[in-house]
Amino acid sequence: MGSTPNILLIYTGGTIGMVKDYESNALKAYDFQELLDNIPELGQLSCNISSRTFKTPIDSSNMNIEYWVEMALLIKENYSSFDGFVILHGSDTMSYSAAALSFMLEHLSKPVILTGSQLPIGDLRTDAKENLITSIQIAALQKMGKPVIQEVCLYFEYKLYRGNRTTKINAEHFEAFSSPNYPPLVESGVNLKIQYPYLLRSKKNGKILTVHTQMDTHVGLLKLFPGITKNLLEAVLTTPNLKVLVLETYGAGNAPTDDWFILTLKNAIKKGLHIINVTQCAGGSVIMGHYETSKKLSQIQLIDGKDITTEAALAKAMYLLGAGITDALFKTVFETALRGEMQEN
Ligand code: ASP
Repeated sequence: MGSTPNILLIYTGGTIGMVKDYESNALKAYDFQELLDNIPELGQLSCNISSRTFKTPIDSSNMNIEYWVEMALLIKENYSSFDGFVILHGSDTMSYSAAALSFMLEHLSKPVILTGSQLPIGDLRTDAKENLITSIQIAALQKMGKPVIQEVCLYFEYKLYRGNRTTKINAEHFEAFSSPNYPPLVESGVNLKIQYPYLLRSKKNGKILTVHTQMDTHVGLLKLFPGITKNLLEAVLTTPNLKVLVLETYGAGNAPTDDWFILTLKNAIKKGLHIINVTQCAGGSVIMGHYETSKKLSQIQLIDGKDITTEAALAKAMYLLGAGITDALFKTVFETALRGEMQEN
């Protein structure tokens, strides 16, 4: 690697590269080269930019495990030749992909920044240019010959976030993402303000990148609501081959104390299902046992999701199942922060 950073741009699709189909009036993906031609400013950046693109760019609503693996392998294959990676991705499922990649890329020591936009790059009022240009600038930041960012991040509307802490909060505003339980890592104003104390550093120095491509999708998600029936709960819990259920509970991890409810969960856990308690609140943490209404969940061995997002909980569950973590260890490992995705204790 020379002194000018090499950045690999990976185009997966999303609004950023879409145009309007005038027959149907719907937005559809278009050519990546045209997208690049719309940003002559890229030539002014002090880094070398190369690009790879998905064969068929997708709307991120079509995101799936195969595409996650494709992204992870692209990074693996190009890891030694590049100093940083910027992934252009639709905003709808960007937080899920950022969380998944954070687990799939173990011992990452270079930046992987996902970004996109609310308006296509060709639109007069587009947010795409700032998002893309600043993402590349941040990916190219070096200090004493090493990348400043060494984790999977998401950049949107003047803020760089830890990817597995984010969630999409708005389909209209340019500020489409939030990281309710972890502060931004970089804020872009007149200068780039880097929050060094918040940056993730691998605890095991010198380890080389290990890419995990086994993600097990036998996971489920259920959000509690007043009036939830036993039928619905049982139907979800007895889904064939279900191994992990992420349960979105109320407030600080609270749920009904009705006997039928607790017993149904307890039976499923006895049969080997792992149930993770995450809050359906936008921010804050599960505190098991804080209220009477979460004490019973703790007693029947629900897994404490602490302040993890639903997106990261699903990705972490898929990753741990794929890694073959034993049933006996699953709870302990899930409750341990692996990539800065949850509070330490
Ligand atoms: N539907 C688009 C996508 O996620 C929205 C966007 O890119 O912002 O691909």
